[in-house]
Order: sequence, then structure tokens, then C-alpha cells
Amino acid sequence: MNAPFKNLIAGEWVEGNSVNPNINPSNTKDVVGEYVRASKAQAEEAIAAAKAAFPAWSRSTPQERYEILKKASDEILARKDELGRLLSREEGKTLAEGVGETVRAGQIFAFFAGECLRLAGEKLASVRPGVEVDMTREPVGVVGMITPWNFPIAIPSWKIAPALAYGNTVVIKPADLVPGCSWAIVDILHRAGLPKGVLNLVMGRGSEVGQVILEHKDVDAITFTGSVPTGRKVAAAAIGGSRMKKLQLEMGGKNPLVVLDDADLKVAVEVAVNGAFFSTGQRCTASSRLIVQDGIHDKFVEACVERMKGLVIDDALKAGTHIGPVVDQSQLDNDLKYIAIAKEEGARLAFGGELLNRETPGFYLQPALFTETTNSMRISREEVFGPVANVIRVKSYDEALAIANDTEFGLSAGICTSSLKYATHFKRNSEAGMIMVNLPTAGVDYHVPFGGRKGSSYGPREQGAYAREFYTTVKTAYTFAG
Ligand code: NAD
Repeated sequence: MNAPFKNLIAGEWVEGNSVNPNINPSNTKDVVGEYVRASKAQAEEAIAAAKAAFPAWSRSTPQERYEILKKASDEILARKDELGRLLSREEGKTLAEGVGETVRAGQIFAFFAGECLRLAGEKLASVRPGVEVDMTREPVGVVGMITPWNFPIAIPSWKIAPALAYGNTVVIKPADLVPGCSWAIVDILHRAGLPKGVLNLVMGRGSEVGQVILEHKDVDAITFTGSVPTGRKVAAAAIGGSRMKKLQLEMGGKNPLVVLDDADLKVAVEVAVNGAFFSTGQRCTASSRLIVQDGIHDKFVEACVERMKGLVIDDALKAGTHIGPVVDQSQLDNDLKYIAIAKEEGARLAFGGELLNRETPGFYLQPALFTETTNSMRISREEVFGPVANVIRVKSYDEALAIANDTEFGLSAGICTSSLKYATHFKRNSEAGMIMVNLPTAGVDYHVPFGGRKGSSYGPREQGAYAREFYTTVKTAYTFAG
């Protein structure tokens, strides 16, 4: 299809009311494509189309749904290099990360193709004679989806695939910064044979298109991934008044990585540098608080700085780049603001934090590591969402655990140790949804649940078979056969 890339409403590609140039953060002169923005009225049309398509789609056979999702998976995997390149061009993560995320999207569609055939109910004997009780799962209805910019292909995929697999219809609004990957996924599913109106794409701004989806009476459920402040607004709009929609929120993190004296230093440095800085630190699961025990602290900081000196920060598409640019000017301003705040609060900049010039104009920032920090500093409490991490020195495991849990967030948490005792205790007592032992806090499998606790998440988990908790509703049916 020729640019500008259009919205999909009721099975038709339609113009919007304005055009959004999708800019490459590695080279701001490179326009990845022009994507239309939908009007509020078009968002309403998309919801009406999803509502009209629901009765037939919700009664489609598992085989029909399996075939469409499997076909989509096959095409995504066959086009992984091209789609991975598109991802890296619009978001700025390296080509290897872009292709890796695309493969994950393909695997997610394959997993949920299988889920179409696996959705089981239960049958119990009643406590009353002659009565049988069936528990079955039914689709929820029209699901509204609002997604962030940092996983442009994986997050739309891990929402769209289960929604369709379990018989729901969809209206999705991707992040305005990265519409390209969502457009590609929707195009693939449309051509794979989805009936009209089952999947609708309305690109545009959250405050316009997003707001319509949140408030519309015909949207039965909302799944949102993004920041905590937006998540709070989403919750108020989706549940406020008489709306009471089914709601799932995946939000920010301030994820701790504990490094104990008995850790393998090489492993700990790799886990910390990868978890904190890869994907430009723009992962909700990034380890931004490194909580390090006294005995290994100095060696660990020195080795991290050495490792950071070897990182190549450059154009995401260049071979040899380890870390691409920050996604845009406003995120870069935010990262620099927190670097300044950390310095003002008395933290010591052990390495990085400088703006970098490269061949092309882009948002290049050297990853920053702070030491001499406390857990009460803003750098320890607020999500930066950039390549910025700080080290907090602790005396003992108990102190490390207490600091790890002393946060309003609870997405992921990690520990580097060779002690089975501490690893086991940490797994049991960490107040996060995902725990990593000797592994980066970021980097998860696609077939198991994903999500957090406390301020990071609300509602049922995403991904794996657990996704059915959100995308289905349970019906209990009693039969007296005489
Ligand atoms: P954001 O909250 O700014 O935007 C997320 C989405 O919400 C976008 O599509 C945006 O257009 C939309 N939006 C904004 N205001 C809206 C409104 N008033 N009504 C409806 N929709 C609105 O987040 P972002 O900057 O795109 O993404 C970064 C954030 O996402 C970080 O906080 C990160 O931790 C979080 N995140 C969380 C997870 C997770 O699974 N927990 C995964 C990835 C990213």
C-alpha cells in the first residue's frame, strides 16, 4: 500500500483527519512513513464496526480462528528482517533487538493460534441431586487497546492475539510515535482473512482517539500499557460514571537488581548492564536501581564502567551498534532532566550521561551510571525510562531486600547471587510480579504470564494461557435433566 498509511475501519482502509510523519530517532531527516490520524468520529465508527462484528466472530469455530492467527504468525516470521528493520527505524532499538522482537510477535501469534484449540471448560457434579454444573469461558466483547511506543510490535501482538483467539473483536490505538509496526500487524491479519470489523486500527493521539475508546459505552474491556500517570487517567475514564469496563493496566517500573557479595562478578556486570541500558533503558522491566553489597560494590562499579566504555551507541541500523538512540526529543529532555536532578541530589556520576554526536542527527545519549545514591533520592523513586541507573550501597542481604521492596512499583526484580538460600528467599519475599535470579530484570518468555504488583499493574496478567483471565468471562450453567 502507498503512503500515507491508513486506518482500518470495518474492513476498509480509510483516510484520517491529519497526517503524522513517523520520524527515525537515529536520523531525524529520515521519515519512516506518513500515517494518518483518526478523528473522534472515526474512533466511534471503529467501535460500531467491532460491535457489529462481535456476534459472528464470537461464534466462529476455533479452527477458523486458528488458521488466521497461524497464517499471521507465518507471515510475521517470514518477514522478520524487514519488519525488524521497520521497528528499529521507527523506535530506535538495534536491528538485532528489532528482529528479536518481531520473532517474538510471530511466536505469540503461533502460541495463541494453539490457544484457540485449547480453551477448555469444567464440569462439576452439583451439590443438588440430578443437577450438573458447567463452567465455560466466553469472549468479553469489544476490547479497546491502547499501547506504548517502546515495544511497537510485541505489545500490540500480545494484546491482539489473545483477544482474537478467544473470540473478541478489537479497536486498537497504537502510540502516536510508532504507528508503523501496528499498521503492519493489522495489515497482515486483515489479509489473513479476518472478517470485516473484527480488528480495527485507529491511529492518533491518546487525548483524542484514546479518550473515545475509554469512554464509549460499547467498549466492554480496556487493556492499556503505558506510564503510571496515563494509566491512572485510563482507569478513571474506563471505570468512572456508569462505565465499569473490564480493565487491565500494565504500567511503569523502578526495578531493583540486588548484587550480593557472593555473586559471580562477570555475570552480575553483564546482567546489570544489559538490564539497565540495552534497548536504551526504555523497557518497563529495566533495572534502574542497582542495590549492591559492600564487599563487591567497588569491584562491581569499576567493572560496570569498563563494560560501559566498550558499548557502541550509534544508529540503530548500523552493524556493531549495541545501543540505539533515545526515542525522541521529549524523552531525551526527560533523561537529561533526571541526570541533572541526580547530580543536584548529590549522586556521583561514575560514567556517561553525555549527549553524543553521530553521522546523522539523532537523540544519542551515553548511558549514565550514578553511585553514592540513596533510595530516597528522586533518581531511585521515579521512573526515568532511559539509559540511566544508580547504585545503592548496602551492608546485608536483609537491607538489600528491604530497599528492593521500598518502592511504589512492583513489576520485576532481580538478584545476582550464588547462594540458593538467598535466591530462594528473594523469590519468596520480593514484592514484584516477575523475579529473575542471575538474569537481567528485562527479557521474558512469551508463553508464561507477564505483569506486576503494586503501582505497576492492575487486573489480570498478560501473555501465556493466563491471558484468558482478561479476554474471557466465565459462565456457570446449571442443568436439571430430570
Ligand atoms: P504513555 O502513558 O505516555 O502512553 C501510552 C499510550 O497511552 C499511548 O498510546 C498514548 O497515546 C496513550 N494515551 C496518552 N494519554 C491518553 C489519554 N488521556 N487517554 C487515552 N490514551 C492516552 O506511555 P509511553 O510513553 O508510550 O510508554 C512508556 C511507559 O510505558 C513507561 O512508563 C513504561 O514503563 C510503560 N510500559 C509498561 C509495560 C508493562 O508491560 N508494564 C510495557 C512497556 C511500557
